[in-house]
Amino acid sequence: MLPELSSLPVARSMDDGESGLGFLLRCAHANGLSMKQLMMLAGVRTPTWPQPADIMRLAFLVGIAPGRLAQTLRQRRTQHGRREFEFVGHRWTSATAFRTRAVQICPECLRERGHCRAVWELAACTLCARHQCELIDRCRHCGTLINWARPAVDVCRCGLYLVAPGPTDRIPCAAADWCRWLEHQCDARSELAMLLPDRLSWLASAGPDGAFHILMALGTRRDVMHSQSTSDTVRMRTPAEMTQCVVRAFERMADIGPDSGLLPRELVDLIDQPRLERLACFGALESARRVARQLLRRMRCEAPLELLRRPWRTAPPFKGQLELFDDGRPSTT
Ligand SMILES: [Zn+2]
Ligand SMILES: [Zn+2]
Repeated sequence: MLPELSSLPVARSMDDGESGLGFLLRCAHANGLSMKQLMMLAGVRTPTWPQPADIMRLAFLVGIAPGRLAQTLRQRRTQHGRREFEFVGHRWTSATAFRTRAVQICPECLRERGHCRAVWELAACTLCARHQCELIDRCRHCGTLINWARPAVDVCRCGLYLVAPGPTDRIPCAAADWCRWLEHQCDARSELAMLLPDRLSWLASAGPDGAFHILMALGTRRDVMHSQSTSDTVRMRTPAEMTQCVVRAFERMADIGPDSGLLPRELVDLIDQPRLERLACFGALESARRVARQLLRRMRCEAPLELLRRPWRTAPPFKGQLELFDDGRPSTT
């Protein structure tokens, strides 16, 4: 604990399903501080990936149990030479599962509830099932990406309220069901029913991290001509692009079915096999590894054993991992 640290005078209580960073922003705002000032007060150097000691100091400052705050902040650690992540009670195997840059929000939820949902920090959550609209990651007024350096949860750095861009197209049912399921994974007390069709129980069994990788493996390639580069794998997608990816994955999953037969060749050609291989070897849950191995077998492939033996190479930093207080310029990749 920093010797001079004392709790902030105005306390706020954390809501169910609320994002830890969103809660800290609310606390900072209530006390006339910016998020950056709050982090400096707590001596936090990397707000995107706070350390356990950072969380202790932040929790003390805002008057909340450290365990409660830790649950809703993304944490990163190295385990057996591999990076892994913890968020909302789940283990995650890749930073690409998160929106570390360009925060997503539902302006209607912010207006009604006054807080940011933890599920919005997941890259694969692109819709608000409650308001049947796409999440936004840019301010409608100034066009900049929304980040945590804004003055309040519902106010952009340009000083104007974050508002919806206007009526959106009808949102795809499969993507809405998927986001509802994700929300339930982040907050079991959510009033939204957990909705994935029974025929996709195999996907749910892979847990949120495994399901994310399966969706990306199935939905990233638009067609067989679309070759995927490394920068494509780590590139930050807009919510609309990610929705298309989720929709494609669900359409393709209709061809998979619960049996164990071989998958059609046209489908196999569209699947990101290396991603499934990584999931088969390093998935956060045994059930996720099992699902990936089964899919690979149905593609006439095996999880390569040499991947398990290969020393883990730390991935180079990419734009999706830029720090919390970046300048908000759009990604150029
Ligand atoms: Zn909403
Ligand atoms: Zn703005």
